Amino acid sequence: MAKVKTHYEECDILVVGGGMAGTGATFEARHWGRDLKIVCVEKANIDRSGAVAQGLYAINCYMGMQWDENQPEDHVRYARNDLMGLVREDLGYDMARHVDSTVHMFDEWGLPMMKDKKTGRYLREGKWQIMIHGESFKPIVAEAAKKSADKIYNRIMITHLLMDESKENRVGGAVGLVTITFFVLKLLLLQREEHHTSSNQEPWVKVWEELGMHLGAMVLLMHYQLLLVQK
Ligand SMILES: Cc1cc2nc3c(=O)[nH]c(=O)nc-3n(C[C@H](O)[C@H](O)[C@H](O)COP(=O)(O)OP(=O)(O)OC[C@H]3O[C@@H](n4cnc5c(N)ncnc54)[C@H](O)[C@@H]3O)c2cc1C
Repeated sequence: MAKVKTHYEECDILVVGGGMAGTGATFEARHWGRDLKIVCVEKANIDRSGAVAQGLYAINCYMGMQWDENQPEDHVRYARNDLMGLVREDLGYDMARHVDSTVHMFDEWGLPMMKDKKTGRYLREGKWQIMIHGESFKPIVAEAAKKSADKIYNRIMITHLLMDESKENRVGGAVGLVTITFFVLKLLLLQREEHHTSSNQEPWVKVWEELGMHLGAMVLLMHYQLLLVQK
């Protein structure tokens, strides 16, 4: 087995996972912890990781409080009905009263948002959603995280959390492994065409496993993303 190199990094705040929540938390952490050392670790690459990476067509929750479209109480009522009363109303209220200012930040950062030309109001496609051109959503928020963090680690998969011996039930650190990416797009597409009807298993799984075995490695976890391209 190749020699394993271990790298140690000390920090005050460790953000595990740089999806929308993680990159947002990294940005907020800098706001509240100005002098703290903040590190964010992502198993893919924060520019295009997580569920937002594909590009969204809407922001699912915007109150529009400045135009009195909705108020936090309305959102709490909606959530209470939707979830048959099983809600923490205080948390729902708190989220609702802050969500507009977060959306305004995305607007300032350059996220293309659909607006009524006359009134400047965001265009809606439902009571809560507003319409966006979200292809650039994740890179824009990732940029804010990059400017906020002391260090971003891409392609590191956190595998273990380390408990703090001096305090019960507190996490004091984490261990991660470098993830390896195989660039096999042509091969993936070919395999997909050939085996699409003949196998129940997703065909690229086999390709990845075989490539891994060739290198003497075993595939434990796979992170893949499909990007649609025009011919
Ligand atoms: C198909 C789809 C369409 C959607 N459409 C909309 C929409 O139009 N509007 C809307 O507002 N919302 C939409 N959503 C919901 C929204 O995208 C998600 O709620 C949001 O992206 C969740 O963000 P998250 O950061 O909590 O999780 P994720 O986006 O899942 O991010 C988690 C991150 O953590 C990383 N990670 C996980 N484990 C580890 C580990 N062990 N070590 C290191 N990194 C790790 C992952 O790689 C990932 O980047 C949609 C979701 C989906 C799936």
